[in-house]
Amino acid sequence: MTTDGTRGDVRVFAQYDRDVEESCDVAVVGSGPGGAVVAKELAEAGRSVVLLEEGPPFTPDDFELEGTRSMTRTMREAGLRATRGYVMPTMQAICLGGGSLVNSAICVRSPEKTLTAWCDDYELERTSRADLDPHYDAVASFAGVAPTPANVLGARNLLFKRACDELGYSSEPIARNVRGCRGSGECFTGCRTRAKQSMDLSYVPAAIRAGARVLTSAQAQQVLAQGSRATGVAGRFVAPFSGRPSHAFRVKAKVVVLAAGCMATPVLLRKSGNLANESGQVGENLQFHPGTAAMGVFPEPTHPQFGATQGYQSLHFVSEGFKLETLWTPPGLLAVRVPGFGDALKRHLAEIPFCAEWDAIVSCNRSLGRVMPRRSGLDPALVWKFHPDDFQILVRALGVLVEMLFAAGAKKVVHGVHGLPDAFCAREEAEVLRTRRIGPTDVVCAANHAFSTTRMHGNPRHGVVDELGRCHGIENLYVADSGVLPRSPSVNPMLTVMALAHRTALTIAERT
Ligand SMILES: Cc1cc2nc3c(=O)[nH]c(=O)nc-3n(C[C@H](O)[C@H](O)[C@H](O)COP(=O)(O)OP(=O)(O)OC[C@H]3O[C@@H](n4cnc5c(N)ncnc54)[C@H](O)[C@@H]3O)c2cc1C
Ligand code: SF4
Repeated sequence: MTTDGTRGDVRVFAQYDRDVEESCDVAVVGSGPGGAVVAKELAEAGRSVVLLEEGPPFTPDDFELEGTRSMTRTMREAGLRATRGYVMPTMQAICLGGGSLVNSAICVRSPEKTLTAWCDDYELERTSRADLDPHYDAVASFAGVAPTPANVLGARNLLFKRACDELGYSSEPIARNVRGCRGSGECFTGCRTRAKQSMDLSYVPAAIRAGARVLTSAQAQQVLAQGSRATGVAGRFVAPFSGRPSHAFRVKAKVVVLAAGCMATPVLLRKSGNLANESGQVGENLQFHPGTAAMGVFPEPTHPQFGATQGYQSLHFVSEGFKLETLWTPPGLLAVRVPGFGDALKRHLAEIPFCAEWDAIVSCNRSLGRVMPRRSGLDPALVWKFHPDDFQILVRALGVLVEMLFAAGAKKVVHGVHGLPDAFCAREEAEVLRTRRIGPTDVVCAANHAFSTTRMHGNPRHGVVDELGRCHGIENLYVADSGVLPRSPSVNPMLTVMALAHRTALTIAERT
């Protein structure tokens, strides 16, 4: 119970039979890795917290094993959201726990060099690796972050290690927020064993135990403000999956924390009278980690459905701008990437039990875009352009993946590049990636790591929040999602989002 006597609870759509009014110390919008951390820390610090989440909660019975069906339930725009400019799919979850429900649980700290460069380039004074390590320690310890154990790696992950060893590239089992992973490879469609410590199973229940009130199916539509102070949040309850609007809610709060994700938070600010946008930076600087994958076909079965979804990684090339990982995709989605028609397609699909799929994500600090509100609704319009130099890094990364798959013993590699034969059958054939002119539209890319649309900057003229997450110009409005990252964290972003959110929560507790 909190100091104002309220008890923690979670409410779902069926319980809303009238308009709702709440008041609290802190209203948090969004229950992903950013918002859930803030809600727990502030509830445990004795603040009364209302956590608003537009999506519903999921239990194992709600998960759909078939990838495309799962996406229609757990992802915004049924998982078909894409950028314009360069057309690239990008997924954001809509559920209690946000992206943590559907992600691979990869937890990596940003390298010291990356954070030092952030400090230098964005006038930050307290965001070095040494500054963030206590926050990384706190969230990693609570979320059970540990290297993937050997017994759940499976052939797909171990072949990656073999390739790195063979070629002299550093590699390691990926640290993940899981407890008791069974290597079922189902992270994307929802962990049925409840091993993944997604926010709905870890931080949100802890917040509720400490007194937080959680309203699911609650779509925040406006941040309420008077002058330079936020006064609360208003919106509507929306039916799960259909989005059908129902009763209204209004939450009066002393502090408002926006953690709706880097696509939704800027839209909310723009639709709330262009709040916190004196810099003109709200929605600007959209950055991604575009990723591409290659699939090796091995002489022996690899049983790729077994093993931690993403269990091994190489940080060997991070200073060159890319990171390499293993991957498993539900077969229905993998099939979309398999080339050919008719018999050729059938032959490729029959090879899936012999395959290993590995991916590369690229930092892309020169490729920028923008999130813009649409006239109606809260779905954003997205524009993003691939800088030619960043694209060349992606082609180089693809070349390394192909080299690695052959080094691990693949007899052929499906690379997904348009205009080339469907697969390389020998390492030398991959030379064409170096010699042929390949453009961005020739390669299949997707990007689920997105950030920087409300970036932190020490100078209020160039950023939306300061390095502690507070909006420049509005003393009681904070942002705690991936939008605050000033640019790419060089590695998977979730742990950095959580560490920064942890610091923001402690800051709010100190100030209120
Ligand atoms: C398929 C996939 C795999 C990934 N794998 C990894 C990985 O293994 N490791 C890693 O580091 N990163 C991974 N990522 C990225 C990572 O999940 C995100 O960076 C992270 O979830 C961002 O956290 P967030 O709190 O900023 O936003 P989100 O996780 O997007 O949470 C925002 C929440 O706010 C809610 N919301 C939005 N608008 C409103 C509104 N108006 N009212 C109320 N609620 C609202 C959303 O429904 C959502 O639940 C992956 C992402 C995806 C999609
Ligand atoms: S690999 Fe399977 S058991 Fe392990 S965290 Fe992912 S879904 Fe859960």
